[in-house]
Amino acid sequence: MKRQFFTPGQKVPDTGIYFAKHHGHKLAEKFVFLKGGRFPHCPRCEQVDFELLQAAPYIFSDPDFCVRTRKESPGERDDERLGKIV
Ligand SMILES: [Zn+2]
Repeated sequence: MKRQFFTPGQKVPDTGIYFAKHHGHKLAEKFVFLKGGRFPHCPRCEQVDFELLQAAPYIFSDPDFCVRTRKESPGERDDERLGKIV
């Protein structure tokens, strides 16, 4: 697969894990980006390359994990619900 790099301000093409490679001041780090967002600018170097490492769906876009399909208790938060074994 051909490697693709993205720059700050470009639209995120796919949800997944990306490498953020700064120029000179920081080691590359992995982050999750959601499709349709924008790659952010770095205030320190203004030059960051983003590379898609692994496309993966956002968990709540999956019908099995979509919170709207589950019976919710009043006042229960998403993070509390996710930690429970049903
Ligand atoms: Zn930077």
